[in-house]
Formats: sequence, C-alpha cells, structure tokens
Amino acid sequence: MKKVIVDKNKCIGCGACVGLVDEVFEFGDDSLAQVKNNINFENMKEELVEEVQDAIEGCPTGAIEEK
Ligand code: SF4
Repeated sequence: MKKVIVDKNKCIGCGACVGLVDEVFEFGDDSLAQVKNNINFENMKEELVEEVQDAIEGCPTGAIEEK
C-alpha cells in the first residue's frame, strides 16, 4: 500500500471510514473525511492495512482511493 487519499468531491461525510480506522482517517473542518497527516502507508502494519482496505471497500461512494 503506497498511498491512500479521500476524494472530497465524492465523500459525503458518512463517517464509516473514520469509525472503522480512526488511526488513519479523520474529519476535516469541512466535515468530510481526510487522511491524517504523517501516515506512512509504505511501512504500515499489516493489520492496519487490512482495516484501511475494509474502509476502501466499505465507502458507499467509492471516495477512498489507493494510489
Ligand atoms: S466512508 Fe467514504 S463517504 Fe463516508 S466519510 Fe469516509 S470517505 Fe467519506
């Protein structure tokens, strides 16, 4: 996993990703999800990678993209 981003044009702020993996996702001032600063996806623990992948699959609008 190299990098994950939230496309704010697609996010509807449902909170599923933040609820699932709050180590990685947070709400911005715009009430939409974003990836926290300083998240190192390349050296991420396997457990956390799996949770992020669950969040990608669980996002109702497909707003979370793995780059
Ligand atoms: S799960 Fe998707 S739509 Fe919901 S807050 Fe996260 S990025 Fe936004």
